[in-house]
Amino acid sequence: MLESFLNESLAEMDAAGLRRRMRDITGPQDRIVFIDGKPYRNFSSNNYLGLANDGRLKEAGIAAIQGEGVGAGASRLVCGNLSAHRQLEQEFARAKKTPRALVFNTGYMANVGIITSLFGKGDIIFSDRLNHASIVDGILLSGATWRRYPHVDMTALAEMLAGADGHKKKVIITDSVFSMDGDIAPLPDIVGVAQKYDCAVMIDEAHAFGVLGETGAGAAEHFHLEDKIDIQMGTLSKAAGCLGAYCCGSESLIEFLLNKARSFIYTTALPPAIAASARRAVAIIQEEPGRRERLWENTRYFVGRLKEMGFNTLNTQTPIIPVVVGDSQQAIEFSQRLQAQGILIVAIRPPTVPPQTARLRISLMATHTQDDMDEALAAVEKIGKELCLI
Ligand SMILES: *Cc1c(COP(=O)(O)O)cnc(C)c1O
Repeated sequence: MLESFLNESLAEMDAAGLRRRMRDITGPQDRIVFIDGKPYRNFSSNNYLGLANDGRLKEAGIAAIQGEGVGAGASRLVCGNLSAHRQLEQEFARAKKTPRALVFNTGYMANVGIITSLFGKGDIIFSDRLNHASIVDGILLSGATWRRYPHVDMTALAEMLAGADGHKKKVIITDSVFSMDGDIAPLPDIVGVAQKYDCAVMIDEAHAFGVLGETGAGAAEHFHLEDKIDIQMGTLSKAAGCLGAYCCGSESLIEFLLNKARSFIYTTALPPAIAASARRAVAIIQEEPGRRERLWENTRYFVGRLKEMGFNTLNTQTPIIPVVVGDSQQAIEFSQRLQAQGILIVAIRPPTVPPQTARLRISLMATHTQDDMDEALAAVEKIGKELCLI
């Protein structure tokens, strides 16, 4: 019974061009990655600053293994609260200019834990339609009333807020940089409308931390709204090149979460090595603005060229660059032809993106060379013409 269900489901995915497969990468995560021993220029990672294979992060991790061992042994609240975790949280509170920070094991776990502990039946959550799946899952699990507003549509959001009465707590939750479209949430407008209706604001800085803001602290810093956003979460798995996530906010928010967020309580703490590497990454993000500047130079160049060629890159404002294809099979075809030319750019299909908006998702790195970009652009242009997309 189960086996036939599985085989039918897989056949359906195949027929719709929606079957997913993992690539076998060997060696470190860098601007060049190896698949079956062959090198590919990598335009698909979220390793924006090239820190995932940085020597200083490795040294910090190795030192922590020598000093504190490999596994944390227990959850933070039992006996797994190691100095590497505490130091990382202090570094974060400083970087984000908030009273306190709490580290979670992944961004997914942070969103689920934060949303389910803070909100529930009787509360109402306003969520951008393109928010990340981990936010959606947190909302579903919370049992709160869920209102999805059209992507960055502030008029619709204001109307929804005006019409929402009789709820205990209200919150707007949004990605600060949208992971598949690369645009930036209009946080000043969101904060403005939230204040008008006595509504809290939570942002997910997964793709903004290390990328946006004068010191790389994210979109809250970019818009100078650090003290106007109640809940700032983000990940250590993208620009920071590690694994883990943070929630930054008031003293009482953090005390509440460490008492109530189940994905914080009922799981073993991060290994000390990864916490130590992450702390080094957070420091480098603040100390080396040059990396961020190169990332933005690369972004401006690459997007400019794609637009000249006539591709639809939606409203990207960041190093995440969608090239909309539409049809899923054609997006896969595009990606496969690029791979044959030594360029790794993966296709993103529904349900990760809305129906009929399958696309290539290009993400740039500070460490991409001019040659990397020109090779990729030439291949994208050639194949785009072959597929009649431009
Ligand atoms: C990647 C991502 C997450 C999940 O973070 P992980 O640390 O990889 O679990 C959450 N939110 C957004 C917007 C993301 O892009």
